[in-house]
Amino acid sequence: MAYSYDDQNIFAKILRGEIPNQTVKETAHSLAFRDIYPQAPLHVLVIPKGAYVSFDHFAQEASDAEIVDYVRLVGEVCRMEGVEEDGWRLISNAGRNGVQEVPHLHVHILGGRILGRMLQ
Ligand code: 5GP
Repeated sequence: MAYSYDDQNIFAKILRGEIPNQTVKETAHSLAFRDIYPQAPLHVLVIPKGAYVSFDHFAQEASDAEIVDYVRLVGEVCRMEGVEEDGWRLISNAGRNGVQEVPHLHVHILGGRILGRMLQ
């Protein structure tokens, strides 16, 4: 599938500095910031700086440096926010069935409370 990227999405605007965010950490290729409507005591979004819609798009087109930077930042945020011992959850919604609201690849890092079972 060929992906098209809408550069008017809200995370693209955050990356361009057009709207503010609460940054947790910025790296060469990625940005971690707090979700505006947190669903748990810890709710951080991690996005690549590149124009990727989903994990599949990212895996197909991103460089190894971007991918390594991104995965390392996800792990580092868990460590920085102190959830590595009690645990956390990663979620990445994609497309219509995944009910993705913002069409720029992101993972949600959720933690700080027991999150309940998602899959039975
Ligand atoms: P999705 O449903 O696409 O996986 O999640 C998008 C997330 O982006 C939601 O959890 C929503 O609260 C968050 N969000 C939407 N607009 C903004 C914004 O302007 N700033 C921040 N920090 N988060 C946002």
